[in-house]
Formats: sequence, C-alpha cells, structure tokens
Amino acid sequence: CSKDAEAGMTSNTRKNVGPGEPVLATQKHHHRKAFEYISKALKIDEEDAGRKDQAIEMYKRGIAELEKGIALDVANGQGESWERARRLQEKMMTNMVMAQERLEILERALSGLVVGETVDIPDIILRGPSPSNLSDIASHVPSEHIASDFISSNNISDNVASGENKTGGLRERKPPSTEHRSSRTPRSDARSKNNQDACNNKYLPQHRATKVDPTPATSKPWKPMRNQPMAIHKSNSLPRGINKNSKINSPNLNRKFPSHHRQNSDNSQTRRRKEFSSLNLKNIDKKLAETIYNEIVDSGPPVFFKDIAGQRTAKEALQEIVILPALRPELFTGLRAPARGLLLFGPPGNGKTMLAKAVANESNATFFNISASSLTSKWVGEGEKLVRTMFVLAKELQPSVVFMDEIDSLLCERREGENDASRRLKTEFLVQFDGVTGCTDDRVLIMGATNRPQELDDAVLRRFAKRVYVTMPDFNTRKEMISHLLNKHGTHFSSNELDNIAALTDGYSGSDLNALAKDAALGPIRDLSASEVKTVDAKKVRDINFFDFNDSLKRIRKSVPQGSLERYEEWNAEYGAMGV
Ligand code: ATP
Ligand code: MG
Repeated sequence: CSKDAEAGMTSNTRKNVGPGEPVLATQKHHHRKAFEYISKALKIDEEDAGRKDQAIEMYKRGIAELEKGIALDVANGQGESWERARRLQEKMMTNMVMAQERLEILERALSGLVVGETVDIPDIILRGPSPSNLSDIASHVPSEHIASDFISSNNISDNVASGENKTGGLRERKPPSTEHRSSRTPRSDARSKNNQDACNNKYLPQHRATKVDPTPATSKPWKPMRNQPMAIHKSNSLPRGINKNSKINSPNLNRKFPSHHRQNSDNSQTRRRKEFSSLNLKNIDKKLAETIYNEIVDSGPPVFFKDIAGQRTAKEALQEIVILPALRPELFTGLRAPARGLLLFGPPGNGKTMLAKAVANESNATFFNISASSLTSKWVGEGEKLVRTMFVLAKELQPSVVFMDEIDSLLCERREGENDASRRLKTEFLVQFDGVTGCTDDRVLIMGATNRPQELDDAVLRRFAKRVYVTMPDFNTRKEMISHLLNKHGTHFSSNELDNIAALTDGYSGSDLNALAKDAALGPIRDLSASEVKTVDAKKVRDINFFDFNDSLKRIRKSVPQGSLERYEEWNAEYGAMGV
C-alpha cells in the first residue's frame, strides 16, 4: 500500500513525487481534484441544458480546488521539483481563469432565468443553434477550451517529470489544431488571439475590475500570495461575446448552450483515452482493463443527493461513512476509519442505485458500476478475471467506489448444486474484497445493493459492516416526488391536490410513483381521438390534472406486497444499521 494513496493520486503521478516533496504532492492532488470536478462540470454543461445549476456547482468546486493548489507557497524552493511546482502553479492559474469565465457566463444566464432579469447576450446566441451558426456559438462559449487546457496541463505535468517540457506553462501552449480552427469564423480567430493575450496575463494577480494589462507575462513574474483570497485571480476579460444591445429572456436560455454531441463525445473519448493510457497496469490483461474502463466505470450523468427524494436516514449514514471521510481523510483514521463495505437493502425501486451513484459523485470517487447478474451472464467465463482486473483498476483510480448491484445473485448462500464457476466467482470477489479492505491506505469502498438481503451468505454479511435500509417513500416523500415530477413537466398542483395523491399512493414505491406520473401525463392525450393526436398543436393539449392521477391509480398499482415489507423490517431490526 502506498502512503501517497491518501492524496488520491494515480501511481503515474505518484512516481514523480518523492517523500521530500509533499508540497508538490499536495499541489498535484488539488490539481487532479480540480480536473475531475471541472471535467464533470464540462460534461453536464455541454450535454445537459437543463442542469446548468449542477455544472455551476462543479465549476465552483473545481475552482476551489485550484485555489487551494495555487495558495501553496512554492516560491522559494530550489531544484527541479520546485521548478515543476511553480510551472504547475502557473497552469492552475490559467485553468482557474478559464473555469471562472465559464462559470461567470453560466451564472449570468441563470440569474436572468431565475429573477426574470434580462441578460446581455450576443445576437448569435439569441438566434439559437443552426447548422450555419453552430461554430460561431461555439466560439462564444468555448467550454471545450477548458477541457483541452486541463488535458494539456496534465500532460505537461507528466512531461515535465520526464524532462520533455522544460519551460511548461502557457508560453508552451499549442495553438488550436487547424481542424478546430477551420470550423471557426475569422471573428472567432481574432477572439482566440485576444484570449491568448489575456491568458498570458492570467497568472498575474489582478482584480477583475482592472483593465487587461497587455504586458507579456514574462516581464511580470507571478508572486505567490500566501493567505490571500484566490478569488481575486479572476480574469478581467469579460465573458466572451457579451453584447450590449441584445437581450435574452429565459426561454432562450437553453439555446445559449447548444450541445455539440459529436464533438463532445469525441472530446470525452479523447479525455478517457488519455486517462486510461496514463494508468499503471502491470500484470493485467490490458484489453479487459480497457473494456472495464469503458463499460463499467460509470461516466453517465451525475446523480446528486438532492435529486433523491426523502431517504434522510440513508443519506445521513452515507454522509458519515463515505462523504465526510472522503473530504477529510485525516480525521478518519485508526479507530475512526470508515467502513469499507456498505450494503443498501430494501424493496425494489426506492433509490438504492440512485443513492450509490450520488455517493460516488458527491465524494468525487471513480464509480465502478457492475450488476452481479451481468457477471454471470454477459461476462460468463471471464467473471473471475474481470473481478480481479476491476479491483486493480479501482485501486489505480482511487478514491473509488465499486458498486455491485443485485449482489444477492452473486453472493447468496451456498446452495446444493451450485456450479463451480459461480462458487469460484464468489470466492474471487471475497478475496479481492479482503485485499482492498485490508490495506488501510487504499481508498476503495465496496457498495452492494440488494432487495433480497435474507439470501446473503453470512461471510458476505460480515464484510458489509454497515447495512443501510432504503425504505419505501413516506407521505411527505411521495408528495415531494409527485410535485417534482409535475414541475419538471411544467405542471403545478395545489398543496391540497398533492396531499390527496400522497394519501392515495400509500404503499407505492419510488418507481411506482414514477410510472403513475407517466401514465397520468398521458391523460390529456387519451382525451383526444387518434386523428386529433396526429394534428393537434402541442401547445393546445390540456394540462395534466388531479383526475388524470385518480384515473391512473386504477392502472398503475403498487408493486411491493405488504408481506415482503414486513420481512424487510424484521431483517433491518436484526441486521440493519439503526440510525446513524
Ligand atoms: P432495484 O432494487 O429494483 O434495483 P432501486 O432501489 O435500485 O431498485 P432505483 O433504480 O435507484 O431503485 O430507482 C428506480 C427509479 O425510481 C429511479 O430511476 C427514479 O426515477 C425513481 N426513484 C426511486 N426512488 C426515488 C427517490 N427517492 N427519489 C427520486 N426518484 C426515485
Ligand atoms: Mg437498483
């Protein structure tokens, strides 16, 4: 086990950091965390127009990490490693300015949406994406610049270590590729030039209200400012493309952030390829590792705790076991070391999988998401090797969460007639489980989910020391869920109506409520004849009402029988973590 694991770095980064270089290690740790947050922010920002608030949150976290990294005093050290630290500090400042610019644009736009205030916006964005103006919009909102710059800074830190890049920093930054530039208008090329100039000043501490100083960076070395708030390192260049005359109201907001699907997926694939190739994968099947990396490491849209209605006890337990130790590892050592195995159990469709995803996201861990049944079907014959390889990757990409869904199908009690392959698979899993949990420096959490906890093997139960009951939604949670689903659709019910629906849906699971709302949403369509459905103007379809729900209750019934709920309660009373 490596001591550097605490810093959450890949071994590739680790090998560049000797024991005498803790500042550089801490600095790289913050840089890597910032990279992870900002990559997430970019992904949401580019792919999901409805979740800009989450992108903002991720940009903020990324910026906070960069601020911590930049705040480290690296000015006075002598020698190669201190030189490296200073170059990385410059890179981080560049990254921070870019992220701040993007954040600023998003915040301006969102505040216009929330308070109904108008926001200055370029004409091109007002018109919205079209084949002819997409590339121009991209030049106004060039979020991909942040990503590519981050990637290049990561490479630079590696190159620096191998002695390939002795100068580093912005002055070494490559111009955009010809292919990229060719999709841009001359206007945006000019802007790129200005940005480049502005960037050259970005590692000079400046207040955003001051004018851009055109003096080349080289003549003004950046002075580290201990204890000085890093927020003042904002770029003074205004968000690109802000135009005094154009106004935007909320309906146009989404247009401001066109999703360039092909280009985005290309970007994220390149990012992933780069990350994968930088891993230290000795003695394992690289092809299988790559498959796991692409298929099992979850890079889907992030889930946040606030997306999950109710489940207060489960969220608090997870907060204590996972999130806080991930954020403050130094407090949770020795006897306070957090549990390494965590089981979510409860009736189907109440958010176990959602909670696991939220845990990985909020603790900023790499999330390995594999269902036990796919191990015995899709990966048949390769299961053991896959489990072994997955754990190597989990250690390599730590902090990580290995989430095994439907765990009962793999780790159920040994039965008569159980075949050798599944017994070997089970054994391999337990061996690997012990391997990571036995190593105090590794930050790998194994999470399991099951709706059949009674069937788990005793040996498995022992390893999942914390068992958290994910319950059926109570009255208030049902109300919250229905209201949330309707709001997403643009429909609002009175509190009285919501109370009535919540009362009528006693015993419905989260996914039952989802199905109910979907069925009720079809109510207005059911009122129309087939020919009307073909021709009706979407705006003229009536809104969903309480009677639609009432009607749907006859079609969508609850799916969890009362008897099985009692068995969960009993199991929880005997084996579950009671409270937090
Ligand atoms: P299973 O045991 O069948 O795997 P699960 O407990 O893992 O079920 P999820 O897959 O997390 O359940 O949830 C199913 C769907 O139900 C979610 O995609 C979501 O739409 C909805 N849902 C369930 N619980 C909640 C909740 N607490 N808040 C919001 N949505 C929920
Ligand atoms: Mg599930």
